[in-house]
Amino acid sequence: MPETGLRFVDRDDLSPICPHCEKYLDEIYVKRRGIAGSDASVHYCPFCLKVLSILPG
Ligand SMILES: [Zn+2]
Repeated sequence: MPETGLRFVDRDDLSPICPHCEKYLDEIYVKRRGIAGSDASVHYCPFCLKVLSILPG
């Protein structure tokens, strides 16, 4: 295994795939309101509505 570490590579020519429904995503829905006592935001798939990530506020 190389010991060069992990790199971030800009790839705007590719689209991410939802890990749940496996559709290509050209947008991701964001819910910012209604999360009690928090400024967190929920990112979810526009097709299957399953949660992709939760970012703390
Ligand atoms: Zn999905």
